[in-house]
Amino acid sequence: MRRKFSYILVSCFLLFVILLSGGCASTPVDEQPLPEEDRYLVYIIWDAFRYDYYEWANDGQYDGTPALNELIENGVLFTDASTGIPSITNPMQAVLVTGAYPRTTENIYRYFDKDEQKVKQTARENSAETLAEAAASQGLKVASVQQFMVLDRGTSYEDPSHLYIQPGGDFKNRVDEAIKILKGEPVVTQGTTEIVFDGIPDIMFIYADDLDTVGHNEKPSYGYYDGTAASTEEERIERCIETVIQMDNELARLIETLREIGIYDKTSFVLAADHGMTPYSGTSSLNDLMDVLKSCLSALGYDVDEKSVEFLNTGNTPSETNRIVIVSVGLQAQIYLNWEFTENEYNFIVTALKSELHSDYIGGVLTFDELQERGAHPDTGDILVWPNPPHHFKNSTSNYKARGGHDTIDESSQHVFLLMSGAGFKKGTQINTKVYNWDIVPTVSHVIQIDPPENVDGRIITEAVQ
Ligand SMILES: [Zn+2]
Repeated sequence: MRRKFSYILVSCFLLFVILLSGGCASTPVDEQPLPEEDRYLVYIIWDAFRYDYYEWANDGQYDGTPALNELIENGVLFTDASTGIPSITNPMQAVLVTGAYPRTTENIYRYFDKDEQKVKQTARENSAETLAEAAASQGLKVASVQQFMVLDRGTSYEDPSHLYIQPGGDFKNRVDEAIKILKGEPVVTQGTTEIVFDGIPDIMFIYADDLDTVGHNEKPSYGYYDGTAASTEEERIERCIETVIQMDNELARLIETLREIGIYDKTSFVLAADHGMTPYSGTSSLNDLMDVLKSCLSALGYDVDEKSVEFLNTGNTPSETNRIVIVSVGLQAQIYLNWEFTENEYNFIVTALKSELHSDYIGGVLTFDELQERGAHPDTGDILVWPNPPHHFKNSTSNYKARGGHDTIDESSQHVFLLMSGAGFKKGTQINTKVYNWDIVPTVSHVIQIDPPENVDGRIITEAVQ
C-alpha cells in the first residue's frame, strides 16, 4: 500500500517537473516504471526461547548475545511479548505463521470432545491461511528451513520457488542449509534429491528447537550435553543460557551471509518463540486437584465414586458415572464439566478452585470466558487450572528432578522473546507494552507490503514500524 502511495507521489512530482519544463523532455520520464523495491524477510523461530534467557545471557556473567543485540540495535526488542493458550509447540507455531488465534486455527493439541465423549489430539491441523500461502499467492518466493507448519501450506519439497527442507539437527545445521539456499547452492530435499532455490527467497522461515530439548531436560537431542540430563535446576537453567549463546553465534553467520550477498539492508528480521519453559519437579499435585473437584461434586449433592473425576489420555473415553474430565500434557489441567451443569454449579466450582490458591500448588484459574478473551478454542476446557512452579499435574507417581515443561499460563512459559529488526522497523527501540504472537504476521505483512493472510486476529504493531 505504501508502495502504491509513493508511486502516486513520485508520478505527480514528475508530471509537475514535465509541466514546468514545457513538456519537452526528450524522454518521457513519467512513463518509466519505478524499480521494484526489494524487500526480504527472515523469520526465525527458536522453540522454547523464554524471555528471561535473553536477560540472563546479557547480565554480565555470560558472554552475551552480540548477534541478537546487533539486531535489537537495528530494530525493536519487545519486553512483554506473550504467546497463547495452549503454549505447546504445534498450536503456537500455527499462531506464528497465521497471525490467528488458536480458536481460529483450531489447532489446540489435546482436548476432550464432549460430543464424541473422547479425548483427542491435533497434530498439524490449521484452518487459517498461512503467511507462506498469502505471500505465494501474491508472487513472492518462500523458503522454509524446517518451519513445518508451512509444509504443503505455501511451501513444498518439490517447488524451487516455494521450497521446504527438513535438515534436522541443531540450529547450526539449519543455518548451514539456509546459507546454501541464500547462496544458490543445492540443498537436499527428500532422501538424496537435491534442489537449487530459484533466486533469493523473499521470505525465509527458519525453525530450531535446540532450546526446547535442552529446557525439557529429559534426554537432550542433537548432541547437546551428550544426551544426559542436568541434575539440578541451576544447571538446567545454565545450559539453556549457554545454548542461547551458542545459537547466537550461528545467527551471526546467517547475518554475515546476508551482508555478503548484499541484501542485509533490505532485510526485515523477526526472531520469535512459540513458548517459554517452566521448571517442575517433585511428585504430582493431580490428586490434590481431584480431591477438590470431588468435594465440589459432593457439596453440590452428587454421588461421588472413583470415576466421578477422571484424568483421561488421548483416545480415552469417560466412565458411565463420570462428571468431570481432566486433560493435561503435564502442567496445566484442562477441566471439563461433563454434564448439563447450571451457572451456579459452574461458579461454585470456580470459587472452590480459586480458594485453593493459598495452598501453594495452584498457580491460577481461568474461567471459560477468560479463556475465550485470550483467543483460546472453546474445546480447551470449561476451566483451566495451572500449577505454581515447581508443582505439576502429571498423571504419574514419579518424583521428578529438574524438569521443564511449557503447557502453562505461568509467566516463564507465556513470556517469550521477540524482536523485529532491519528494513521497515524502528531502530534501537524497546517496546514495553503487551504484544502477542498473533500480532507478528499482520505486522510483517505490513512491513513487506503484502496483504496479510485471510484469517489474522492480531493487529499491526504500528509502534514498531518506521
Ligand atoms: Zn517442548
